[in-house]
Amino acid sequence: MTATITDARRLVVKIGSALLVDERSGQIRRPWLAALADDIADLRRRNVEVVLVSSGAIAVGREHLGLTGRPLKLEEKQAAAATGQIRLAHAYEEILRWHDLTVALILLTLDDTESRRRHLNARSTITQLLALGAVPLINENDTVATTEIRFGDNDRLAARVAQMISADTLVLLSDIDGLYTADPRRGGSAQRLDVVTEVTAEIEAMAGAAPPGYSSGGMITKLKAARIALSAGCRMAIARGTHRHPLRALEQGAPCTWFLPAAEPLTARKRWIAGALKPMGSLTIDDGALAALARGSSLLPAGVVGVVGDFQRGDAVAVRTRDGRTVGRGLSAYAAADARAIAGHKSGEIETILGFRGRDEIIHRDDLVLD
Ligand code: GLU
Repeated sequence: MTATITDARRLVVKIGSALLVDERSGQIRRPWLAALADDIADLRRRNVEVVLVSSGAIAVGREHLGLTGRPLKLEEKQAAAATGQIRLAHAYEEILRWHDLTVALILLTLDDTESRRRHLNARSTITQLLALGAVPLINENDTVATTEIRFGDNDRLAARVAQMISADTLVLLSDIDGLYTADPRRGGSAQRLDVVTEVTAEIEAMAGAAPPGYSSGGMITKLKAARIALSAGCRMAIARGTHRHPLRALEQGAPCTWFLPAAEPLTARKRWIAGALKPMGSLTIDDGALAALARGSSLLPAGVVGVVGDFQRGDAVAVRTRDGRTVGRGLSAYAAADARAIAGHKSGEIETILGFRGRDEIIHRDDLVLD
């Protein structure tokens, strides 16, 4: 992968509170957002899929609840987020509508990206929205997230989202134009790095502590995000977002730090399915299905002749032939009981059998690895 966003197909952009919200007034910087919307519209015109991960709910909401001038307790932040999120989403909706772009709001917790069942649901919803031409706007579901299940920072949330939807590019818009060998605000001879291919201990040592103010990030959380992105085969940029049109500037080669992965997103996802997940059961398939899988097709229920084990939707399962040979592994779109009920049936019959219209495929080809 190269150090540019010009060939991005699926792009996640993280927008921090400090860029979007004026700290003193708690107001959204609408001219800045309008300029960003121009950039997004340009990308959408070139058929780049764009997903926004935006902070700012707490920064916008606190003013309206009289929670200003002091650090907030967790429940006060959650209360602020509850009112701020409405205003935030409204601003995005209004400004992107000028470009005829439809915004769709998704609030996620850590669990939604880590638990496999929820992961599969969130992934399908986001990819469905992208297929329909919408711009998903994502934030942490601050009001329900407790201390233990919080992301706490949207840098990591954005990287998890990028991983979950197999995005090829993640841009963290920040108040600084990249990773420096030392904190450039302290003066001295700090140098910005152009490209990083691995987050080593030496790289980590370059990140100072989080800066003051209401943004929860800092370079440390950005490096955590970089680790997640790199392992998911997604390149990531830390770029300055303080000026108007930050994405256009990045396309035109504005200075930034790129983190470049060794693999492509789909390859990284398949490696994860092949290696990291323990199969919770298996699906036995007939010869016709085996031939179809070999041609790169998804596994349909019609080709399944047996279901073993007690697995949940989203769990990994082994794929076997009738003579017991394991030929691959994948994420099942159906729990074991449902898989048993629809095995051998046409996809068009799923709704009648189960009472709901699930996926046509029992294992989607993107969720399948053949041995
Ligand atoms: N989810 C929080 C908000 O919208 C922000 C978290 C962060 O700053 O990274 O206010």
